Amino acid sequence: MSRDDQFDFDFIVIGSGFGGSVSAHRLTEKGYKVAVMEMGRRWTPENLPRTSWSIHRWFWRPKLGLRGFFNMRFFKHATIFHGCAVGGGSITYACTLLAPPEKVWDSGSWASLANWKAEMPGHYETAARMLGVTENTILGPADHLLRKAAEATGCGDTFYRTHVGIFQSSDGQPNQTFADPFFGGEGPPRTTCISCGGCMMGCRFGAKNTLDLTYLYLAEKHGAQVFPETKVVDLKPLKGAADGSQGYEVRTVNSTASIRHQPQRFTCRGVVFSASSLGTMELLFQLKERGSLPAISSQLGQHVRTNSESLIGARTPGYSQDLSQGIAIGSGIYIDEHTHIEAVRYPRGCDTMGFLTTILTDGRPGPQRIALWLKNVTSSLLRHPFKTVRVLQPLGWAREFVILLCMQALDGEIEMRWKRPWFWPFRKFLVSRGEKVPTYIPRANEFAKKFAQLTGGFAMSLLPEILFDVPGTAHCIGGCVIADSPARGVVDARHRVFGYKNMYVCDGSVVAANLGVNPSLTITALAERAMSFVAPKGETSWNDAPVPAHVGAS
Ligand SMILES: Cc1cc2nc3c(=O)[nH]c(=O)nc-3n(C[C@H](O)[C@H](O)[C@H](O)COP(=O)(O)OP(=O)(O)OC[C@H]3O[C@@H](n4cnc5c(N)ncnc54)[C@H](O)[C@@H]3O)c2cc1C
Ligand code: SF4
Repeated sequence: MSRDDQFDFDFIVIGSGFGGSVSAHRLTEKGYKVAVMEMGRRWTPENLPRTSWSIHRWFWRPKLGLRGFFNMRFFKHATIFHGCAVGGGSITYACTLLAPPEKVWDSGSWASLANWKAEMPGHYETAARMLGVTENTILGPADHLLRKAAEATGCGDTFYRTHVGIFQSSDGQPNQTFADPFFGGEGPPRTTCISCGGCMMGCRFGAKNTLDLTYLYLAEKHGAQVFPETKVVDLKPLKGAADGSQGYEVRTVNSTASIRHQPQRFTCRGVVFSASSLGTMELLFQLKERGSLPAISSQLGQHVRTNSESLIGARTPGYSQDLSQGIAIGSGIYIDEHTHIEAVRYPRGCDTMGFLTTILTDGRPGPQRIALWLKNVTSSLLRHPFKTVRVLQPLGWAREFVILLCMQALDGEIEMRWKRPWFWPFRKFLVSRGEKVPTYIPRANEFAKKFAQLTGGFAMSLLPEILFDVPGTAHCIGGCVIADSPARGVVDARHRVFGYKNMYVCDGSVVAANLGVNPSLTITALAERAMSFVAPKGETSWNDAPVPAHVGAS
């Protein structure tokens, strides 16, 4: 029996999001036998929910019987939204794919560890080609309103169409099916976008370039084995070789079973952690504490970034046009050098988010803001009782609402720790620490008011931001950042984990600076770069480790 036959797989990739799918595809191309362990379900046009009222097929909380693809995690400093599915966050993301400004390579712990500015453009180009990035050709009524509001506030010249991973017809014809338009016939047939605005509920029309139709599709076609609903719960070096040089043992359970969890054991020579920023931090904290991977750097959980984000918007009952039409994020503007606003929508009928929106409220966070909010709602009820009740109830919300996603490119970090929270001392969880991220961006609120004036509607805020002073974000990055040594980060500039051999992290957790734009294209490009350094199977000596000076230190 050859040495390789003693292992179930050459590589096990944990998680099938952007980093995981790139890794699976590129490793398979290099001749490796690859398994992808994914705790989420596999989604198809047939089983995706039609509206957000199918909560059990939208939300991921398997212990409560919710087996969807969208999760919300609540921390003191942020509510973090993320995806959980075969294809990771790509199933629920809004497919905006933007490259950050060059200056991001000059800050954070990755600065000067590689010639990023020379290397990365090629990887962004590959990532953009593989994800089918194109300028959005479909502007819906919400995008036109955004442009008008920008003109009215003096920033009309900053209006831009987003760059997105959506198959849009060159002649503007929706719902046309073509043989694979992206990979020279290797990929699946695709259908042009019908501008239903449903990207964040999962595309039921084959138009969104999700990973299961791009990278992961190709990986599976070339032999990668995907294990859906399979959660990795333990991972340790084999045969007492503490640095993993003899391979790894990976233990999994069924993530959706309520009683029999079907534990399984697999062996492999190399591992790629791609469970997302939160998922990889959580798993590595558990493995470090349990003694399975004790040499993981104690920098784990440091330098977590959430983008400064605030969700505001405007609701216009009875508006003449259907504001849910278009793509999920069709356009954006810059209201100042640091503040960027995108027009976001959910598809018609997806009204459950309406429970979370309320009358816009300014003011400093804390009890004063709550008092001001109560005053605003009461005075609105007294002045326009019918209209106020109408905007506060959820029915018709998606048709009448434009979400204004406000992002600020100001740097701010938090830290994640593995601790027993005071309110539940029975087990440890990820808990956040650090400076509060602002939930109230005054200029953005002013813009929302202007926007509402244009439509004759109400400017709105997100209720949890007012009540708990906790911002929501879909862009959590960092926690296992790239650095020159385990004293400053968790992986080296080639994403190799300090302290171990043939072990990599390829996901949002390695990002070491504030990007100021949606992160998925950067995660994809970084994973392309990391995988480009892995030797083809025929040439590997299975000895890939971070620079020797740093191995074993923590
Ligand atoms: C509603 C929404 C809209 C968004 N819109 C955009 C956008 O327009 N543009 C953009 O750039 N970004 C967007 N994002 C963010 C984007 O989805 C993430 O940045 C991106 O998916 C992160 O990629 P990743 O490779 O780090 O991990 P992910 O894509 O999150 O994948 C990680 C996978 O690992 C799995 N996993 C975790 N733990 C385990 C375990 N122990 N065992 C097995 N599997 C595990 C998870 O189920 C998940 O599928 C959006 C996110 C949300 C929620
Ligand atoms: S707008 Fe509709 S058809 Fe187009 S990509 Fe999004 S979900 Fe698919």
